[in-house]
Amino acid sequence: MSQPISFLTEEKPEALRGVKFYLETFGCQMNDYDSDGLSELLKRELLVQVDAPELAQVILVNSCSVREAVEEKILGRLSDLGRHKLNGTAALLGVVGCMGQRLGEEIQRRVPMVDLVMGTEAYPRMPDYLRRGLEGGIRKVDRERSDSAVHPVPPAFKESFRAFVTIMRGCDNHCTFCIVPNTRGAEVSRPAGSILREVELLAAGGTFDITLLGQNVNSYRWGSMNFAGLMRAVGDLPGVKRVRFTTSNPQDMTDDVLLAVSEHPNIVEHIHLPVQAGNNRVLEAMHRFYTREKYFALVDRARDLIPHLALTTDLIVGFPGETDEEFEETLDLVRRVQYDTAFAFKFSPRSGTPAAMMPGQVPEAVKTERLKRLLEIQKQMTDRRSLAMVGRRVELAVEKLHPKLPGQALTRTRTNRTVTVPATEGELGSMVWGVITEARGQALYGERASS
Ligand code: SF4
Repeated sequence: MSQPISFLTEEKPEALRGVKFYLETFGCQMNDYDSDGLSELLKRELLVQVDAPELAQVILVNSCSVREAVEEKILGRLSDLGRHKLNGTAALLGVVGCMGQRLGEEIQRRVPMVDLVMGTEAYPRMPDYLRRGLEGGIRKVDRERSDSAVHPVPPAFKESFRAFVTIMRGCDNHCTFCIVPNTRGAEVSRPAGSILREVELLAAGGTFDITLLGQNVNSYRWGSMNFAGLMRAVGDLPGVKRVRFTTSNPQDMTDDVLLAVSEHPNIVEHIHLPVQAGNNRVLEAMHRFYTREKYFALVDRARDLIPHLALTTDLIVGFPGETDEEFEETLDLVRRVQYDTAFAFKFSPRSGTPAAMMPGQVPEAVKTERLKRLLEIQKQMTDRRSLAMVGRRVELAVEKLHPKLPGQALTRTRTNRTVTVPATEGELGSMVWGVITEARGQALYGERASS
């Protein structure tokens, strides 16, 4: 079983000094966070990051397994990147992350030029593998899990007003359509101290908008500190102005989290609450342990406690066995909850998940039709929610100058909406007040207001 994690190898042989590496990332925010950390790890080993594969001696791909099509795309990309080894500019090609964890040796069978395959928890051993690879060549698959609560990559500090901070890895829920428990393993919460330290350093560097990240953040626990406690502690840190979090499984949402959102001034009024479907038989087949009635009660409770709460969600259409009537219940739920926005997908059978083997796979054309209808209704809801914001006075974080409208800037509300208002370059990174004057679908426009 693996050793305790240290992010600095004892000796720092010259072998890696100045070696150029290129890192390409696919997938979710968790992968973005891991890639930033992996870059940080390699830079501490004196490697140099370049932004094009043709400039690199080491080419790495951080992979994703969320859908079959994504994996095929990445395997194709690896074959393409392999030509840099053929023309001698690159010495080593590696793939890390979820697809590395799930497929292992299969990747090297499919793309023989891949030297190194590493899973989602093997990163601390990367410098040693690169050293051996550059000195004498290497052909390695490492999918070993870590039993340490320390996240497998160090935090990375980038100049930005916003940052994602991973608070845990893995998931214990085993929804029948999801590959994450296979690739990211069981839930492991990071030590609260290391999270708070990381946020302190980020805030000291000017980052004031922090998103706490995990597959199921509500089940975070470190000693006596649960997720609500962690959010409040992060919100109390000097320089932190906005605390966000994603993703919450409704079955693990508790009143103390809702109270933390409603009571703490720095925890924003936005909750991403994936419901996935609106019918109880489908929810049960998904291993989502709440009913539509329970979900409605949770939404009503959250809206009672948190004025102007913005809710967003994830939805799957065409889950195996889903009838037209059952799908109508999903549409009914979307009309009733009125999400600010929703991320909707057609069910895609994922080999290695129970749902892929279920009877009653829905024909592609039916899935396409259902997705179209769902997106049409959700657009009406988004438009309605946007129009309801017109006239409201809101606090805005000035994030960047508008690429097309001179004198205007793109700003972000506490509820994660983007608003275009007049602002100057000097105001980047500051908080201002504005009044929403116009809504065009998702796009919001406003004027400045006195603070
Ligand atoms: S809670 Fe989310 S990450 Fe966990 S198994 Fe379900 S869908 Fe996957």
